[in-house]
Amino acid sequence: MALRILINGARGRMGQALSTSVPALGLRIGAVVNPGDDLAAGLARSDVVIDFSSPHATKAVLELAVAQGKPVVIGTTGHSAPAKQELLTLAAKIPCVWAGNFSVAVNLLFALTRRAAAVLGSDYDAEVVEMHHRFKKDAPSGTAARLLEIILEERQLTTEALRHGRQGIPGARTPTEVGIHSLRGGDVVGDHTVIFAALGERLELTHKASDRAIYARGAVRAAQWVATQKPGVYDMQDVLGLK
Ligand code: NAD
Repeated sequence: MALRILINGARGRMGQALSTSVPALGLRIGAVVNPGDDLAAGLARSDVVIDFSSPHATKAVLELAVAQGKPVVIGTTGHSAPAKQELLTLAAKIPCVWAGNFSVAVNLLFALTRRAAAVLGSDYDAEVVEMHHRFKKDAPSGTAARLLEIILEERQLTTEALRHGRQGIPGARTPTEVGIHSLRGGDVVGDHTVIFAALGERLELTHKASDRAIYARGAVRAAQWVATQKPGVYDMQDVLGLK
């Protein structure tokens, strides 16, 4: 029987994209949940939760999913680092795919960024630039945050190295800093560029999303995959076999 999906945040931009993608990909919508709806009752009628709502909603989603033993897919971004740490402990009790970006091509960008950071080394200044629509609430984007995490991991740096925009007279760039710049405007679905710049050459890795259906399709793929997994927190690299 087709997997029944609970869509949390159903009236949002991603919720609407999911309402189209879930049936188009042969799954069933078990329940649609908006603020104030009975999440527990919706969950009882569903096999897997897909959550693209608000960071404030994640704890309740995970607590109910743990109570009912249901797998979850978390796409919501914007959690603070300590809040995310606490939520991951909860998420590990059930099968959970948690990803800042569900696009297949962006997940390849993550792998390419790791390789480039390792091969190019610290002589190549790393900067990340992202642009999203004017309605986006968090910055930098979850995808940019993951790209930065990968660069910091490869260069053995901490978040102290991050420079969120520059102004005034910050002085010459140091080799250990990693810049992040968030642009907002119009209806841009999501652009990300990772720049590695040395004296005499520069490599730019760019992904541009033009339709949020890419995230919805990836999340549905994650839901199908997570339904058969053991408890634990996975990401799209696991779903796509990129590890
Ligand atoms: P949106 O503002 O259009 O929609 C969010 C929806 O969630 C709204 O309809 C809101 O009413 C609802 N909501 C808020 N609190 C809720 C609660 N407690 N219970 C149920 N519903 C609740 O935003 P969006 O563009 O659809 O994005 C939603 C989230 O997904 C954001 O965090 C965004 O950054 C993230 N996102 C992630 C990816 C990815 O691939 N991981 C892609 C796109 C967006």
